[in-house]
Amino acid sequence: MGLRLFNTLSSRLEDFTPLNDNKVGIYTCGMTVQGPPHIGHIRAALNRDVLVRWLRYLGYEVISVENFTDVDDKIIQKQKEYKLDWRIIAQGNIEKYLWACDQLNIERATVYPRASQHIEEIIDLVQSLVDKGYAYESEGDVYYRVRNFPRYGRLSKKSIDELVSGARIEPTEHKKDPLDFAVWKSAKSGEPYWLSPWGKGRPGWHIECSAMSMHYLGETFDIHTGGEDLIFPHHENEIAQSEAATGKQFVRYWLHTGWVTLGGEKMAKSTGHFLLIEDLLKEYRPNVVRLYLLKTHYRNQIEFSRERLNEARSAYLRIQTYLHSFKELGDIEKPLMLEEFTQAMNDDLNTSRALGIIYELIKKGYEENDIDIARSVKYYLRTLGFKDEIPEPPFESVMIIIKEVMERLKTEGRTEILDKVKDGFLRIFEDVNQMKDVFPGVVGLILDVRNMLRKEKEYSFADYIRSRLADAGIQIQDININSSTYRLEVR
Ligand SMILES: [Zn+2]
Repeated sequence: MGLRLFNTLSSRLEDFTPLNDNKVGIYTCGMTVQGPPHIGHIRAALNRDVLVRWLRYLGYEVISVENFTDVDDKIIQKQKEYKLDWRIIAQGNIEKYLWACDQLNIERATVYPRASQHIEEIIDLVQSLVDKGYAYESEGDVYYRVRNFPRYGRLSKKSIDELVSGARIEPTEHKKDPLDFAVWKSAKSGEPYWLSPWGKGRPGWHIECSAMSMHYLGETFDIHTGGEDLIFPHHENEIAQSEAATGKQFVRYWLHTGWVTLGGEKMAKSTGHFLLIEDLLKEYRPNVVRLYLLKTHYRNQIEFSRERLNEARSAYLRIQTYLHSFKELGDIEKPLMLEEFTQAMNDDLNTSRALGIIYELIKKGYEENDIDIARSVKYYLRTLGFKDEIPEPPFESVMIIIKEVMERLKTEGRTEILDKVKDGFLRIFEDVNQMKDVFPGVVGLILDVRNMLRKEKEYSFADYIRSRLADAGIQIQDININSSTYRLEVR
């Protein structure tokens, strides 16, 4: 079975076959760059990254295009607010976005066009819509006449009647029908503008994606991706504009990424309800964020959760700890469980199942001590876009665990034990001769806390410590429950 993708247009899984031999064109709706990226933007970019990697893995040549909407109402608003030229605002946020993508090992798209660099193509497209009777000029604005495009609503499964009830005309608009949308907007004073047959103005949001995608990928291309919130009206309008202008099918496969929600609501810059990726990356390694996001299938929504992120961190540490036990790992040509992994990825990029295969291999790896298992793990991590990292000793994990333990002691009001831990730290650093002495000292401290808790019959907290240590590859065997004797095995 080859690659199958869920196409929003047909609402079902379809076999993927590109238009031209083994060449695939992908267009992704990128950010409107009025602010720095949040985790929702990064999730959409990451899903494109996984898709592109997998297509290349399967032997396809991929051209991927991701736009930046750099001229838009929200950016013009920021220009007024900050008294800075819109280009400066856009440039700063584009750089932040690309920085975050590089951090997360998201491969760069082949090209990142900006709306402001394609005004000529946009004007040509608007003109051809006017010539064909699909768009009309009204007081310097140009609107798309939705009723003239009978297939409107096919992607979002909305009927014209349903849309009519929700549509209205804003006081600033000059459209003839509430359903119509702007493809060109006349400039108000102080706003950026370009000269056009309809006077000074700028493009509407939807038309830029039609113009840029067709410019780079042709009138019909293979895959269009974006967040699920873009299905309507943005992608519906892209189809209407492009197909009306060319008379051809615009996009063959539409792939949509689920939202990242915060408290059940979509993260959005416009509502101030979001978490910046640069802040998240101060707390979590990029590979941990990748693991966290890939655990959920791309079409499902993710409720942002620190708890889930911490789980991803533990899972990642487990992987690191396992790989650390092999020196000079080397590569493998035909990894183990390749068929299962390929099947998972070919099934609409089921990354969650693909990760499950990695965990299964690690479990087996601990039992069988076979270096090919470790090599296979490394191979699959790379295939899923994880950055190659030199596996670190469990020291970092142990520091994270003690931090968690101290936080929990604090929340549970166990100041007595907490103070002992703090004293213990002072002792370790007073006595320490070399950094390598810190590791056993800190592990000893964690075990002391566990013993104190056990004596107080706080078994659930004590078990939590044991399982967190196990995550980091440190197994504890209690030799005598009532004494503080234990044996450690660090794998
Ligand atoms: Zn778009």
